[in-house]
Amino acid sequence: MARSPADPRFASPLAEELAVGVLERFLRYVVIDTQSNPDSTAYPSTAKQLVLSRLLVDELRGLGLSDVELTKHGYVFATVPGTVPDAPTVGLIAHVDTAPGTSGTGVTPIVHRAWSGGLIHLDGDTGQVLDPAEMPGLAEKVGNDLVTTDGTTLLGADDKAGVAIIVTAAERLLAEDSPRATLRVGFTVDEEVGKGTDHFDLEAFGADFAYTFDGSGLGEVEVETFSAYQLVLTVNGVGVHPGTGRGRLVNALKLLAAVVDGLPHDRLSPETTEDREGFVHPERMIGNTSRATLWLIARDHDDDALEGHVELVRRIATEVVGREPRASFTLEVKEQYRNMRPALDRHPEIVVAAEEAIRRAGVEPVRSIIRGGTDGARLTEKGLPTPNLFTGGQNYHSVCEWASVQDMAAAAATAVELVRLWGERSLS
Ligand SMILES: [Zn+2]
Repeated sequence: MARSPADPRFASPLAEELAVGVLERFLRYVVIDTQSNPDSTAYPSTAKQLVLSRLLVDELRGLGLSDVELTKHGYVFATVPGTVPDAPTVGLIAHVDTAPGTSGTGVTPIVHRAWSGGLIHLDGDTGQVLDPAEMPGLAEKVGNDLVTTDGTTLLGADDKAGVAIIVTAAERLLAEDSPRATLRVGFTVDEEVGKGTDHFDLEAFGADFAYTFDGSGLGEVEVETFSAYQLVLTVNGVGVHPGTGRGRLVNALKLLAAVVDGLPHDRLSPETTEDREGFVHPERMIGNTSRATLWLIARDHDDDALEGHVELVRRIATEVVGREPRASFTLEVKEQYRNMRPALDRHPEIVVAAEEAIRRAGVEPVRSIIRGGTDGARLTEKGLPTPNLFTGGQNYHSVCEWASVQDMAAAAATAVELVRLWGERSLS
């Protein structure tokens, strides 16, 4: 029979044991500002990400990992050697950067020990409140130790929870001599600006398959992402001094606004869809009377439907801009990532092992789909099958982001169990 944890809030004795290390690391990492920047042409997009990458290099060396390396693009790679010669090499991956949309400067994590279930007033001056009646998943965490922000920044559990989970698991694995596979650790940069794997050298990483710890709720195994395009729509008008614009001025801003207004209002938008429904979503516009550009994203789990969304945007632009013969437009379509489901279906044992590891960590696994992408989707596309596992963080990219210490600890236990399990399988 499996032992029970002394503190029943933990999923397993291993999770209980790892909790202190996970929390200590998490609190240390989140105060480091690692926000990435979509407008930068540098790689990584912001140099401050390297502050955490370098700290991780020192920390992993200190823990005794092998081959610890900061690659020239800012990734951290390291090895926990296996004890079973024929076992596969398992990759565990997380990203160090945080999302560009919400401040990551001056993060002040607050630990709410044994949360009683009431409203959580964040300490900053923004009047933010976490209300379990309104916040999905929060009410289930009564009694847990929760980490929140002070309401002025994001927390950065996305994905510093993943980083803390993997480092803590590596430390634990090095301290035991039970059968285990070789573990390759990978910490990436610029995931949040869609470039997390641009320079990820699969051969240098050397894993047979991998898992990202970049998910959310307890027990989740994500095997399906959106397929994703970015669309850049540029409308060219005719810029003329407004004092003499009569009959000559063609305002690109007005045309572009009409295109935005022509997009579906009651469907095909993030505001009105869920589960497997895709969307087109205007994210940013910039311009003047003579030229205006709109960035949109198109998302769907179904690749054919995704192409349909692109055609819809093209049709609306053709119709709106076509009404003004002196105007023109260009539509650029850039692929961002592909749904990883078809590739993972060819290697079902990788997902099955993740579910087994989660069970061993004392949690019931839950298969779910991501309305978004992960580094794993791009790595899977490149040939490294990489499903995404939970971290215990919630409400990402928001000043109301929070994380459960008990859930982060269960994820760390899952990471340990995964590497053990792939070692044991190769013994039999
Ligand atoms: Zn993330």
